[in-house]
Amino acid sequence: MTFDVETAYATLHPLFPGRIRRNEPLSRHSTFGVGGPADLWITLETRAGLIDLVMLCVEHRWPLLLIGNGTNVLFADAGVRGIVARIALNTYTIEDHGDGTALLVADAGVSWPRLLNELAVQGWGGLEFGPGIPGTLGGGVISNAGAHHGNMSHVLEWVEVLDARHWQEGVQPKMVFYQQHELDFSYRHSRFRAQRRVQFDEQGYPIAAPRRLIEPEEIVMRLAVRLVRTDSEELRATIQEYKQHRKRTQPPQQSAGSVFKNPPDDYSGRLIEAAGVKGLVHGKASISERHANFIVNVGGASAADVAALIREAHRRVLEQFGVDLEMEVELRGEWKAESP
Ligand SMILES: Cc1cc2nc3c(=O)[nH]c(=O)nc-3n(C[C@H](O)[C@H](O)[C@H](O)COP(=O)(O)OP(=O)(O)OC[C@H]3O[C@@H](n4cnc5c(N)ncnc54)[C@H](O)[C@@H]3O)c2cc1C
Repeated sequence: MTFDVETAYATLHPLFPGRIRRNEPLSRHSTFGVGGPADLWITLETRAGLIDLVMLCVEHRWPLLLIGNGTNVLFADAGVRGIVARIALNTYTIEDHGDGTALLVADAGVSWPRLLNELAVQGWGGLEFGPGIPGTLGGGVISNAGAHHGNMSHVLEWVEVLDARHWQEGVQPKMVFYQQHELDFSYRHSRFRAQRRVQFDEQGYPIAAPRRLIEPEEIVMRLAVRLVRTDSEELRATIQEYKQHRKRTQPPQQSAGSVFKNPPDDYSGRLIEAAGVKGLVHGKASISERHANFIVNVGGASAADVAALIREAHRRVLEQFGVDLEMEVELRGEWKAESP
């Protein structure tokens, strides 16, 4: 993929005034606080802007990576070539059915914790299991985000997707609707993640899934979630309780939440701790003392520091218990350029 930053900037700047930057450090846009520069960074606040950007990237063959709040990604130290755009579309409507239920129709970029507080005030329940999930609703569909026995697939009705999979055959990206049952949801999985499993190389380092020109090629634009009339005080109390639980059990430092998915009938944190690597430090990153399935940035960590700890945790658990932990966090960017 060749990418001329100046040409792309000159074309895109008039379309995204004040929303486009060159050489933007991705460490500013991921909760891990690590990652090198994106050649171009764009914040997308409108649906039209997102569609136009995808169309232009297809037309000019500009590499595009779309993200939400950056709470489940680990960007490479070498950054990302091409354009990284944050889906920040954040409007929603609530269709009250008058029978104690409603349909929330939300843009993919709506931030989960912010929305929850607003729903609690209005007395609508359904998503309150997620006050500790700092991502967008769109990102939550991709990973079937969940906590406290709830997950996105329990409440989702449908998604609207911009499908850019067939541009190479000359097919223009188009909008498609999918019902919940068409999305192959399971624990931290949807069919959007099917090709994205992080593999490990011969030395045990994680390898990013291959990148396409438009990444991802299926972009969640909007989604609909079932809501249930619930007492506001009750919602506030539940949200508060879940928040307190997080405070007690999760580290306060920068992270991307759980690094690995839990294997069947076990916990990654328990296995990593039993493998003796809890508290392990590499450079400025550490396997959290509070929760061994969290890797934290203790201040100025590199992506290579984090990758070294991922390798160690994965390798030791595999050697000692024969369990091949699957990554929950996704690797993005120019990982090949690095030798951690
Ligand atoms: C402190 C902390 C606690 C967490 N706790 C939990 C938890 O309890 N449960 C849980 O499930 N997760 C948890 N997470 C992880 C994370 O918040 C979720 O996975 C969240 O759903 C990711 O959303 P995001 O918008 O940040 O996605 P990003 O990290 O920005 O993106 C993740 C992936 O999804 C893709 N993507 C994002 N938006 C779209 C879209 N609209 N269309 C297509 N692809 C898209 C991106 O390309 C990327 O590959 C936690 C993270 C942190 C930092």
